[in-house]
Amino acid sequence: MSQYVFFFGGGKADGNKDMKDTLGGKGSGLAEMTNAGVPVPPGFTISTQACNAYYDSGGKLPPEVDQQMDAALAKLEALQGKKLGDPADPLLVSVRSGSKFSMPGMMDTILNLGMNDKSVAGVEAKTGNPRFARDSYRRFIQMYGNVVLGIDKDKFEHELSAVKKKFKAKTDVELDAKALDEVIARYKVVVEKNTHHPFPQDPREQLIGARDAVFQSWMNPRAITYRKLNDIPHNLGTAVNVQTMVFGNKGDTSATGVGFTRNPSNGAKEFYGEFLQNAQGEDVVSGVRTPHPITDLEKLMPAAYKQLREITTRLERHYKDVQDFEFTIEENKLYMLQTRNGKRTGLAAINIAVDLCEEGVLTKKEALLKVEPQALDQLLHPIFDPKARKGVEVAAKGLPASPGAATGAIVFTADEAVAWAQKGKKVLLVRMETVPDDIHGMSVAQGILTATGGMTSHAAVVGRQMGKPSVVGCGALEIDAKARTLKVNGQTLREHHAISIDGSTGEVMLSAVPTSASEVIQVVEGKLKPEKSVIFQKFEKLLGWADEVRRLGIRANADVPKDAKVAFGFGARGIGLCRTEHMFFGADRLPHVVKMILAAARGQRGIDLTRRLKERLKEAKGHQVADIKKEIAKVDKEYGKYVKDYTTALKKLEPMQKADFAGLFKEMHGSPVTIRTLDPPLHEFLPKREELMVEIATLKAKSASKNKKAIAAKEKLLRAVEELHEFNPMLGHRGCRLGITYPEITKMQAKAIFEAALQVSKKGIPVKPEVMIPLVGHVEELKRQKAIVLEAAHEVLGKDGSGVDYLIGTMIEVPRGAVTADEIAKEAEFFSFGTNDLTQMGFGLSRDDASKFLLFYQEHGLLDKDPFVTLDASGVGLLVEIGVKKGRSVKPKLKIGVCGEHGGDPASIAFFHKVGLDYVSCSPYRVPIARLAAAQAQLEERASD
Ligand code: ADP
Ligand code: MG
Ligand code: MG
Repeated sequence: MSQYVFFFGGGKADGNKDMKDTLGGKGSGLAEMTNAGVPVPPGFTISTQACNAYYDSGGKLPPEVDQQMDAALAKLEALQGKKLGDPADPLLVSVRSGSKFSMPGMMDTILNLGMNDKSVAGVEAKTGNPRFARDSYRRFIQMYGNVVLGIDKDKFEHELSAVKKKFKAKTDVELDAKALDEVIARYKVVVEKNTHHPFPQDPREQLIGARDAVFQSWMNPRAITYRKLNDIPHNLGTAVNVQTMVFGNKGDTSATGVGFTRNPSNGAKEFYGEFLQNAQGEDVVSGVRTPHPITDLEKLMPAAYKQLREITTRLERHYKDVQDFEFTIEENKLYMLQTRNGKRTGLAAINIAVDLCEEGVLTKKEALLKVEPQALDQLLHPIFDPKARKGVEVAAKGLPASPGAATGAIVFTADEAVAWAQKGKKVLLVRMETVPDDIHGMSVAQGILTATGGMTSHAAVVGRQMGKPSVVGCGALEIDAKARTLKVNGQTLREHHAISIDGSTGEVMLSAVPTSASEVIQVVEGKLKPEKSVIFQKFEKLLGWADEVRRLGIRANADVPKDAKVAFGFGARGIGLCRTEHMFFGADRLPHVVKMILAAARGQRGIDLTRRLKERLKEAKGHQVADIKKEIAKVDKEYGKYVKDYTTALKKLEPMQKADFAGLFKEMHGSPVTIRTLDPPLHEFLPKREELMVEIATLKAKSASKNKKAIAAKEKLLRAVEELHEFNPMLGHRGCRLGITYPEITKMQAKAIFEAALQVSKKGIPVKPEVMIPLVGHVEELKRQKAIVLEAAHEVLGKDGSGVDYLIGTMIEVPRGAVTADEIAKEAEFFSFGTNDLTQMGFGLSRDDASKFLLFYQEHGLLDKDPFVTLDASGVGLLVEIGVKKGRSVKPKLKIGVCGEHGGDPASIAFFHKVGLDYVSCSPYRVPIARLAAAQAQLEERASD
């Protein structure tokens, strides 16, 4: 026969702390405390399995539950020497909910059960306190009436107010026994009226009613919503705890309170909490009276306080974690009613983990498992001043793309952002969505707010990479960039109006809310000395322990030396992805890039034709020589101008790229730097077709004759844009396909990489360049690009390599690349999984358009998580696994990493650890998260061995 009921009391319990599944958190805590000799009022727990059985059979319980409950009740009565509902000296109990994960206040609790018209007299006689007896009874009718009988709370409150008025009492504490008799009478009328039955007097009927009501409260809408928000499964069920009542409302030697063994908001080692004298149950948290700081208890009840400190300290050591506890003092005697691991902020989590380790409570490894990697984020981003934030209304909500608080003046274009920032103003960039050439505006903005796009939209990815608070996909925004207005929540705001966004919650506020900067960032950026920041020291200490444990290497995705420096400061040892194209957007480069693009097709053709003719010329004889020369001249006439434009533009870009790469090498101090050759479709560097058409029309309207030259230039640009137009650019002419059709571009980039490497290594700084070819789906693509890179290497470094140790590898981001990884590995010296594209192409969904239905999918249970945030382990992850297996079947030691957004996501990192990657690469600001998550992956793997 299954055991549904578990007793605790008399120094012994059936359960313990490892039985949360069966007893719920509260029940297992009560059992554990009982076993540890802590004063806990005795009682019994009805298991979560009973709750599930109740639901499975449509509201009925197996008969064993009633039998076991009756037996436990008899045992409790014997232990206490009292009987439930006994008119002379009744046992009173509370009936408390409690599931595996704490859901504070979400389900129901009933106190003082066992009170009825007769036993109230017994309580009075036994305690000599008529007021107390009646107060307990009226509370019971109120709670039972609401929770079990479903009567609106207000109906009771209404009667209580009326009696208070009649007896001129300000609070309920002022009501005397006579007044309370009237409250009880009125409450009973409320019950009769609403249920057409008198208030139940039979204690067993009361107990069963309360138990079943607690089971039912598992499915109340509040609880359901809470579970959804916190990813708690709906099938866990709640346990029911039936526990002997103790009373904090017996006068001034009694009290009730709640507390933490350490400060849960900053982790400080201080006793933290609140209490009320002469009060019961929820009085402390409900706000009916203002509670006192727990430290005041020391003066009022020194013995009970001392014991409380002693017990809670012991509990903290026992559970090896901060405890969140509830207690009641009845006539100077202390009882513990609940204990659990306390919820805390990121700041508190770090402080507590490090402190507990240094106090010898936790080992380093245990400490590492106490901190949620994601919570580290909170230490990196500016925060709203909590006091200032309180009174401010939330006007709209979007997706919390990049955490942190930001306040600034609204600007609608990147240029305006720069212009205003140059005047020393703080700006917030508000766009429908951002595009790569908004980057200059994004980099000067305090934060980014967009109306469309998902968690991996451009704004979100770049926002995170820059460590900038970003809220994306905020559908409630009506942006009119032309009129420079933003309509939201019934208000119309003009450009430069100050607003605030909270990237941790997605909230938008329509005023400037003051912020404070993160200390950790200040240290990493060199603005604050590490020894000046206690929190940085703790942060680094914990992550140092993580480094000792983890197997995965951690790199960062960084394009410019500034980001690389930050990444290194955060502990990244290597760059896993440098997106060279981001450098193309600089104001000094873009004109050359545009020139290169305009000339590329014909220029490349001219170069190729000429090369072929010159080769033929070498073998030509007699009259052939003149013929070929003539042909060369013809090609030169047709393409010469383009060849010149193309090659001059590339020559201009080469030294600029070289300088960028040299900066990266220096900042990485000898750690590997992976540089990807040009990846995005070329049209991304050109203006939009519609914009150009408008500009041309405007010029023509002003004066076609005066603007002739400008019009011609724009028309040329327009033709190029039209030529480059693609229906599906993400599957179009991009990645290695660019380098294959325009080998000169690959060659220029490769040369810039090797020249930079040579320059830096000559200064005595070791360099490890890794040239990465993107979007390879067929080995032949890699083979051909590799040949070009090698040619550049030989040209720059000579055949011996001049001491520069370089690798040539590829991204695996096309499904075909993953499934033919054994072929590709023959040519590759490393793999890096581009899981953004691999997810996009693996699922066949565009990441720029998916937000429209992905949210629906998640809300309707088709997908647990956004696959662009957490790797879809069973599908896209399988492609990764196949890629790893096939790649290493050819080269057992093949170096393999990942450089998609997933490289900074703890759940994905655990997956990458499991499939044997060598490193993950993520945005600089996620490096700390990745360090900790990688350590946890290693620790958890060992634990499950
Ligand atoms: P929640 O899960 O919402 O915190 P609890 O079951 O902890 O609900 O009950 C709320 C409060 O009721 C407790 O903090 C405590 O003050 C009071 N309470 C519950 N059971 C008892 C009891 N046996 N004796 C005295 N007070 C109790
Ligand atoms: Mg509680
Ligand atoms: Mg890609």
